[in-house]
Amino acid sequence: MITFQDVTKTYEDGTVAVNNVTLDIHEGEFFVLIGPSGCGKTTTLKMINRLHTISNGDILIDGKSISEHNIHELRWNIGYVLQQIALFPHMTIEENIAIVPELKSWKKADITKRVDELLELVGLEPDTYRKRKPSELSGGQQQRVGVARALAANPPIILMDEPFSALDPLSREQLQQDFLKLKEKIRKTIVFVTHDMNEALILGDRICLMKDGEIVQVGTPEEFLNKPKNDFVKSFIGNKQSILLIKLEEIVSEVVSEQEVESGVALDQEATLGDALELLQHHDAVTITSVNGTLGVLTRQKVLQYIYKHSQEGGTIT
Ligand code: ADP
Ligand code: MG
Repeated sequence: MITFQDVTKTYEDGTVAVNNVTLDIHEGEFFVLIGPSGCGKTTTLKMINRLHTISNGDILIDGKSISEHNIHELRWNIGYVLQQIALFPHMTIEENIAIVPELKSWKKADITKRVDELLELVGLEPDTYRKRKPSELSGGQQQRVGVARALAANPPIILMDEPFSALDPLSREQLQQDFLKLKEKIRKTIVFVTHDMNEALILGDRICLMKDGEIVQVGTPEEFLNKPKNDFVKSFIGNKQSILLIKLEEIVSEVVSEQEVESGVALDQEATLGDALELLQHHDAVTITSVNGTLGVLTRQKVLQYIYKHSQEGGTIT
């Protein structure tokens, strides 16, 4: 879907922000770019919608070089959410969300319908918020509007640059949790930048860790947890690897879901959280058993949530 071919970005002052990056982002994937400040995440993102030029190499979307796409169409077909969303202060929430549909000359009735649908989707009651001005919303609510605006014309690709990082921890966690559900509903190709490994593990289908403009490791959350490539990756993973050694029996009451989920495989409660995660790469759910029978069903999301909750300290490098 989005292919980086030996992409290098050298700024005018000689700074090599992105160095020889080759990468394939799949359709419908939630792809996380993570790494310390200054490692080239924003530059990488901005080359995709041509807010920055590429110095060397090429980026293809659906097999066609971005330089051959019409720049306006390219931008309309790529939603963009920033850390501090710049909503137009004099426009209502409704007008802010409708910007791209207006540019695309949608019918009035279609726009109104779409705005309501999007406000619902991001958890803002349309009747309450439609006519408000951005200043009448909290930071978290403004970020929600930013997400709605990026989705407005139903672009196949969404770029998000640290969309939750300016929020207080509580709003941030709420938005992450809501976004987890939202991403299942919208099923888009999302490239998401963060410097928070917890956020990456919980949201990402795949994660790409960068350092000094280069890729260090690309893989699923499970691969990062189970097979960190080197000490640098380990420093980002923090204490999460030790969490994987916890036996299921110790946490069974907290992580096992009551609801009936189809599960093809079983694990004894003596097994570890890491064993479960390994299996959950290939199965939707795992049944936890003891000598007394079935204890319940464990899902991948439950395991990642557990790791997230118990590793709030560490894991973030700025
Ligand atoms: P990140 O988003 O990971 O923090 P950036 O992509 O913003 O990293 O920056 C990567 C590197 O490029 C940094 O060293 C940064 O100082 C440099 N850089 C970013 N923008 C410019 C610019 N416009 N001109 C020169 N150097 C820049
Ligand atoms: Mg950045």
